Amino acid sequence: MVGVCRGCDSHAALAEAMVEIDERAAIVRCRGCSHTLFTVMRDEGGVRVMVASLSSLERSLQRDIPQS
Ligand SMILES: [Zn+2]
Repeated sequence: MVGVCRGCDSHAALAEAMVEIDERAAIVRCRGCSHTLFTVMRDEGGVRVMVASLSSLERSLQRDIPQS
């Protein structure tokens, strides 16, 4: 799955993003510019995803390699 960063227009596989995790949240950052792409929060009420600099998320039917 390829994510596009609004901060630097990088197209990269989501697996390449940097992730900071603690017991309540996972912060997913762009490897190109370190902006927060999205944050996943977890608490007793459930899970919440807050989108920040993630412009789009694309899943190719062919392959998951950025086209750039
Ligand atoms: Zn970026």
